[in-house]
Amino acid sequence: MTFKGFAVQYPEYEVITPQTKKSFTLRSLNVQEEERLKGSLVTPTKIAEHLNSCLFNSIVSKPPDITDLDSFIRNTTLKDRDALLYGLYHITYEEIRNYQVKCTACANNYSVTVQASSTFNFNSYPGENILTDSHKVELPVSKGVFVTIKQPTLFDEVYGITQLSNRPGTTIELITETLIISKFEQDVPEKKNPIIYSDRVDVIDAYLSLPAKDKRTIYRTYEKEFGAYGIELKMQSNCTSCGNQDKYDIDLVESFFRSLFSA
Ligand SMILES: [Zn+2]
Repeated sequence: MTFKGFAVQYPEYEVITPQTKKSFTLRSLNVQEEERLKGSLVTPTKIAEHLNSCLFNSIVSKPPDITDLDSFIRNTTLKDRDALLYGLYHITYEEIRNYQVKCTACANNYSVTVQASSTFNFNSYPGENILTDSHKVELPVSKGVFVTIKQPTLFDEVYGITQLSNRPGTTIELITETLIISKFEQDVPEKKNPIIYSDRVDVIDAYLSLPAKDKRTIYRTYEKEFGAYGIELKMQSNCTSCGNQDKYDIDLVESFFRSLFSA
């Protein structure tokens, strides 16, 4: 007999994205998709692309303006992806197994297993359109320099990594953490118009030159305007050695890849 597929209905789960507020239905990953994702781990610059296409392929129903992978990555934010990944995780694995934590009182390392749904919190973006919203602030130390903060999309991430990861001295962490900056503007006293730096290379170089205090202003502004809206996965646990109770934020991307190997 040649295998023609089982008549299996994969489990499905509906996710409302917290930032763009769209409804998706996702189905569980199959074994082949798990294997493909594991394979993507060997190339760090490809992880984002693989995650995006894996998520897109798991979508059973989606909003009408999302017609293909390209429109998906342009209209979905990084925080929305966390929510979709949560949905995929929930429907594929249900529980977050053997999550490694470190006790803040006695430094004991131990592992915890929790139901994914028990960790879940959702905070919806109150604005109209997060894809076009931005927020401009003057930097407190670099007077006359303004930064415009936005919520990056999956496209921004893939584009940034593809364009810049081969540039000497530019790490994936640096590319990712500067995605929230859409541009810098510098007032010049004798000129009418400010100088604008919006190219990714210029944005990263300008960012690296900032005093540390200005960096904090950038991240505080992002958190307040955009970052606070999304899902949060929190759990509480008691240390297996001293009994101290701690709260932990779960990194979903990390636990996702870990469960691929322990499933
Ligand atoms: Zn302890």
